[in-house]
Amino acid sequence: MKYFSLNDPHLKVSFREAVILGQAPGKSLYFPDQIPLITAAWLESLKSRSKEEIALKIIQPYIEDEIPKSDLLNIISETINFDFPLVKVEENIYCLELFHGPTCAFKDVGARFLSGCLNYFSKGQDKKITILVATSGDTGGAVADAFYGSENVDVIILYPAGKVSHWQELQLTTYGKNVRAICVEGSFDDCQALVKEAFSDPVLKKKYSFNSANSINIARWLSQQFYYFFALKQWPFDMAPDVSVPSGNLGNLAAGMLAKKSGSNIDTLIAACNENDVLVDYLECGEYIMKKAIPTVSNAMDVGAPSNFPRVIELLKKDKNHRSLTGYSFTSDETKKAIHDVYQQTKYTMDPHSAVGYLALKKHFSHHSKKAGFFLGTAHPAKFFDIVNPLVGEYLEVPTQIQSLQKKQVKKENIPARYDALKELLTG
Ligand SMILES: *Cc1c(COP(=O)(O)O)cnc(C)c1O
Repeated sequence: MKYFSLNDPHLKVSFREAVILGQAPGKSLYFPDQIPLITAAWLESLKSRSKEEIALKIIQPYIEDEIPKSDLLNIISETINFDFPLVKVEENIYCLELFHGPTCAFKDVGARFLSGCLNYFSKGQDKKITILVATSGDTGGAVADAFYGSENVDVIILYPAGKVSHWQELQLTTYGKNVRAICVEGSFDDCQALVKEAFSDPVLKKKYSFNSANSINIARWLSQQFYYFFALKQWPFDMAPDVSVPSGNLGNLAAGMLAKKSGSNIDTLIAACNENDVLVDYLECGEYIMKKAIPTVSNAMDVGAPSNFPRVIELLKKDKNHRSLTGYSFTSDETKKAIHDVYQQTKYTMDPHSAVGYLALKKHFSHHSKKAGFFLGTAHPAKFFDIVNPLVGEYLEVPTQIQSLQKKQVKKENIPARYDALKELLTG
């Protein structure tokens, strides 16, 4: 399998190169030059397969022998060693809970798979890799956890001051060792812009061998396809589900589109957005207009310039089926109301991101007759207890893996949202 640059299709690299480079030249993204197809017979057998078998089947055609099968299996089993239950919320509506990993948000899978691949590829190399990553909330924690203690990889995380939740901030700032947290006076888009500038700065490039752990890295992006197959393994009906994906940088959605193109039986994919809805606008009027990010209760989706947008466009390009992708957006008030109402009616607790997914699925059903589907539960509700607790009127049990952070020491560096400030910190 080769990966081409979306800005320059003649430029092709191997899986290894794409993982190590992260971003293609000119701030472009890598994209697989073929989409492997899954046979109907294999899909039929999904229910009897283990999640490790499923993950191997999905990812191996993208890697071929660049990682030997036994090493790949080790990486996979470390990546997915927790549960991915598909839980019934109400009649015909299910939640695929992706928050049972170490940082209680779905990004654990992508970050751990990337960590496995990078550690494999960097073995025996003399220059350390430095992951420089901007986070709107959960990426940073997942990356910190996945790379903590790695001998070959250092991590530098940029996050927007005051725009991540209490637990999210602890997840960024309590690891220490090879993990450095930088708190930026600005928005997530500011952080992302600083990271992009650092990547193309020749002075820093001399000092660091940079990599991005954002979902632009194909190892993170491609492995997110697993979720969709794990859900289908548990799907109780014959009819293909509609699938609603709480979306920000669109990595998860683009992975769902890839899974769908590979032949998985997903009916409509639904981009569930908060007020940061450039994709919804694009789907409605065919124009991509970047916006300044608006802060919402689903902060990990507060993205005005989604980094995976070009991949979504590429995946849409060859698609004649107008039902394959749709999108809806919701305000913070609607999101909070959904958390409250669903809890009242079903006792199911959703975090604000998952709630946007729920709302989009409901809205989609209201326009169509049939329907059964699931939304992705992208974070544990207790991660957002300050928003969720008052809405459900009950104290949420905080999972032990995040509770333990409370006792750890916080370490962070503060900078204004200016490139010279970041540069000074990294060259100093
Ligand atoms: C990152 C994140 C999202 C958005 O995912 P993208 O792949 O960036 O679209 C949604 N929900 C939560 C909880 C997240 O952390």
